[in-house]
Amino acid sequence: MDDLPLREELRGKSPYGAPQLDVPVRLNTNENPFPLPDEVADAVEKALRAVLRDLNRYPDRDATALRQDLAAYLGHGLTGARVWAANGSNEVQQQLLQAFAGPGRAALGFTPSYSMHPLLCSGTGTAWIDGFRNRGDAERAFALPADDAAAQVREHRPDVVFLCSPNNPTGTALDLAVVEAVLQHAPGIVIVDEAYAEFARPGTRSVLALLDAYPRLVVTRTMSKAFALAGVRVGYLAAAAAVVDAVQLVRLPYHLSSLTQAGARAALAHAPALLAQVEAIKDQRDRIVDGLRSLGLRVADSDANFVLFALSDPDSPTLWRALLERGVLVRDVGLPGWLRVTAGSAEETSAFLAAMEALV
Ligand code: PMP
Repeated sequence: MDDLPLREELRGKSPYGAPQLDVPVRLNTNENPFPLPDEVADAVEKALRAVLRDLNRYPDRDATALRQDLAAYLGHGLTGARVWAANGSNEVQQQLLQAFAGPGRAALGFTPSYSMHPLLCSGTGTAWIDGFRNRGDAERAFALPADDAAAQVREHRPDVVFLCSPNNPTGTALDLAVVEAVLQHAPGIVIVDEAYAEFARPGTRSVLALLDAYPRLVVTRTMSKAFALAGVRVGYLAAAAAVVDAVQLVRLPYHLSSLTQAGARAALAHAPALLAQVEAIKDQRDRIVDGLRSLGLRVADSDANFVLFALSDPDSPTLWRALLERGVLVRDVGLPGWLRVTAGSAEETSAFLAAMEALV
């Protein structure tokens, strides 16, 4: 690659890459552990079969029916005109940067957060501003106080602000007051990545509730987690209709295949069956939090399908390897002393907790 006339800002960079290892217990990429229930798999199969003979034609360029279904799922008075869908929320966020950021513009995020946000910036030629969370207060190291967030927005005046709630990798959801503080000071677009919203603890309010009051707020969601459809690749956003119009200026024509649109709609029609599994995952998440705390470990509050925990001894790379030797793959997210584990099935959770008990 070094010999290629690569863009300067991409030199020395690594692609996004969580290990895809073939081990018995894979708890490193926040996937849903449950295969599709038979009733949903059958419905998806039927929907795909129905479009197979039309594959000689391009798909609906505007994914109109899918967007209407997604709006109905979200509620909050949303309509298809205020929802946009693409191949994963990664692609949605890339399109947002293409429309609202890019060369000469900057995006601010609050580290640690989802590692793709800065990578999407580098791919779109957007300058990345590495904002901070609660420095100096070790106990609340990953909290994002409203005044801290607002002060950084005022200082940098970024074209785009990324918030993530529940935040990956820490797991904790943001209070709406933090989002509002950022919205009141942000000169540009504010993206709130709600990929894990369905897993939040009771009482957590979605940022969707703020959409009507803030025309520059964009909430991104995904079918990869709660809907157990990571392999299909459907993410979406909700915002003002004008934001959806703007994103259409940069999307590739026919970006969402007929198969993707049909499969996602069939799965959405069975939302209750899929979302029932979310409750089972939340139970395992809470088991992990309680189990690790009873081992004396520091554990971040989790509103997601994963848990971030701290250890003093052994260090995180050593524990990561020791867990792997016991067939359990977790994620070293690059925060010294911390590891992240995805809530899996009851059996996977038991295997992880048993390994931790033996190792810590
Ligand atoms: N946002 C966050 C916070 C994530 O953790 C992920 C996936 N790991 C995504 C977005 C992307 O999900 P997808 O592209 O599958 O919708």
